[in-house]
Amino acid sequence: MPDAPAINLHTLIGELPRITGRRAKLLHRLEIESVSDLLRHIPARYEFEEAESTIDKLLPGVIGSARGEVAACRWVGGYGKKGRFEATLVDDTGRLHLTWFNARYLIDRIHAGDTLRVQGKVKMFLNNPQMANPRFEVLSEEQEEAAERGQYLRPIYPTTEGLPSRFIEQLIADVLPRVAGELVDPLPAKLVKHHEMPALAEAFRMAHRPGDEDEAAAARRRLAYNEFLLLQLGIAMKRAFVHRKLHAPALKINEAIDQHIVDRFPFKLTAGQRQVINEIAADLGRDRPMNRLLQGDVGSGKTVIALYAMLAAVASRKQAALMAPTQLLAEQHYLSIGRMLEGSRLSIELMTSSSSERRHDADLIVGTQAILSEIEAMKNLAVIVIDEQHRFGVMQRAAFRSFRGQEKGLVPHHLVMTATPIPRTLGLTIFGDLDVSTLRDMPPGRTPIINRVVGPEKADEVYRYLRQRVERGEQAYVVVPAIDAPGSASESAPVLRSVAEHVKLLQNKYFRGQGLRVAAMHGRLKAETREKIMARFRAGEFHVLVSTTVIEVGVDVPNATLMVIEHAERFGLAQLHQLRGRVGRNADNRRSLCVFIASPTTESAEQRLKAIASTGDGFKIAEQDFEIRGMGEFFGTRQAGTPPLRIGKLPEQMDLLLLARRDAQQLIEADPALNDNSHQLLRKVLMHQFGQALGLIDVG
Ligand code: ADP
Ligand code: MG
Repeated sequence: MPDAPAINLHTLIGELPRITGRRAKLLHRLEIESVSDLLRHIPARYEFEEAESTIDKLLPGVIGSARGEVAACRWVGGYGKKGRFEATLVDDTGRLHLTWFNARYLIDRIHAGDTLRVQGKVKMFLNNPQMANPRFEVLSEEQEEAAERGQYLRPIYPTTEGLPSRFIEQLIADVLPRVAGELVDPLPAKLVKHHEMPALAEAFRMAHRPGDEDEAAAARRRLAYNEFLLLQLGIAMKRAFVHRKLHAPALKINEAIDQHIVDRFPFKLTAGQRQVINEIAADLGRDRPMNRLLQGDVGSGKTVIALYAMLAAVASRKQAALMAPTQLLAEQHYLSIGRMLEGSRLSIELMTSSSSERRHDADLIVGTQAILSEIEAMKNLAVIVIDEQHRFGVMQRAAFRSFRGQEKGLVPHHLVMTATPIPRTLGLTIFGDLDVSTLRDMPPGRTPIINRVVGPEKADEVYRYLRQRVERGEQAYVVVPAIDAPGSASESAPVLRSVAEHVKLLQNKYFRGQGLRVAAMHGRLKAETREKIMARFRAGEFHVLVSTTVIEVGVDVPNATLMVIEHAERFGLAQLHQLRGRVGRNADNRRSLCVFIASPTTESAEQRLKAIASTGDGFKIAEQDFEIRGMGEFFGTRQAGTPPLRIGKLPEQMDLLLLARRDAQQLIEADPALNDNSHQLLRKVLMHQFGQALGLIDVG
């Protein structure tokens, strides 16, 4: 039985020799499941290692390191594990004796003539230095040359507690030479040559064990390019598939229909709205499914655009559905669309998880994600609108699910709306298969919101001012981070109050008398209760609404011109922007005000608050959010649809992404499903790496 069992790229990490259960768990935490993942776990940076001492300088009793050539080596023992592996290392100054106990596997790792770097505790025996069980590495030729020049670059790996970077380094040094032969480049050789990039196996070697910094940089570029190219190929392939294979009902929209729809709206469309509607109308008129993302800042007027697409479906005697992220928003859409359609014969159905009876044949269906599970039953569905999807994962899944398994029939047109624009870089990655429309103008009569960030010591002043304005007939939101307040406040930390406590404080301290009324709003209230409260707030019966983030999206009460956000340091940037979008919806000349009460304790919290105060532009906010948080966090967890990039870094490597995108488009133009024989490996690797994230399973 060989001691070093055969391994390949798919070998699971737990099956590698000397990987304990604990270590495997730690590696899993780094999302390393297989040898292939391990190799793609590339160093975060490199450090110059101090030069080793020569053998004659090794001191007994201390840990030393040396580099030399293996003059001789042998296994002393039998075929079992018991025994020792011995080697003699020589340099110009002397000989060093090395012993590893019970390490038969070294037979395959260390050979006479190899250059070795060793580190261990030095003992002297008859004036000769020795090390027992030293750490070691076999140096490549390049490393040897680099070491000669006195510059050794040690890779420093991203890691997690309990798993030293050195351990990962050693593991990769162990594994890489054993699978190097398997690292067949899936990319067409022509491309690699054209870009003058190193071969794949070489790139992995250079990333993990670079001779110098240039090598490391070239390797990272090559490996990132591979990732980007695969991702872009996946996107281009999916797009080609949608165009070729999927069909949707063509909705013809003539002038009369257009006029009829627009007449329903209580205002004149802005130029921006008109333009987006034209783009959408053109899509809907085709017999392949629209797959369009509409991004427009909070309050830019996306709802009527959605309604236009929906009514276009109805005009062709089809159904349309509108899916909102929260029950509150679904209810509000249901009511406001109902108002706009008053007097028509259209049927509208509200479909949420709490609606008891579900009618599938209504003309318009408005609801929450509950709609998704009912889509099959909506036989006539021609348009589905997904509103306020700034939770990208949901957006992805939603869009994919309704495409799945419908190859034979017709699929509905898709319109996804978001107030959190996707940073340009990301737009090119996982959302590259969406067409994008952007609303840049605001409906008339808007004045920009005034933003103020203040410390908690100013809260009293803020609420006094709030009261003055509320007394003059304006309304206000007060947003708190949580329904309940965990524990009581300490001297140092500012008070964190529950919703109920906040209501009490305002009611008793600031809003005594004069019939000023404060209401509470949060997710634990029953849907009907929430809707009633919103209706009364809208009607002016309540003057202040103390709420959690349930009002984050869509809530539209023009007379509410003031917002106070407590503990603003606890909210994400996009969330803060969404929240403040609830004010500034009045068409008169009262300036809306948003006050962020905050005591930031981290640098990123400070950055967020600075960003929110410095611009009201949602597009800029999205870019800054992306920069502050980086890609991983921007998306939330992986399951939520992160583009699974391990090596490629965005936005830093934008140029490389664009290059890969161009290359991918050319490849797919020539071979839309990568069926060509020369593309088989490419296709396989693509499916393996990005199939799931991109929903390519369907493309099959
Ligand atoms: P969002 O893009 O945030 O979903 P909404 O569709 O809710 O924005 O629109 C915000 C407000 O602007 C609503 O009160 C809506 O009635 C109003 N509105 C939208 N379009 C126009 C327009 N063209 N002219 C005047 N008011 C408009
Ligand atoms: Mg909206």
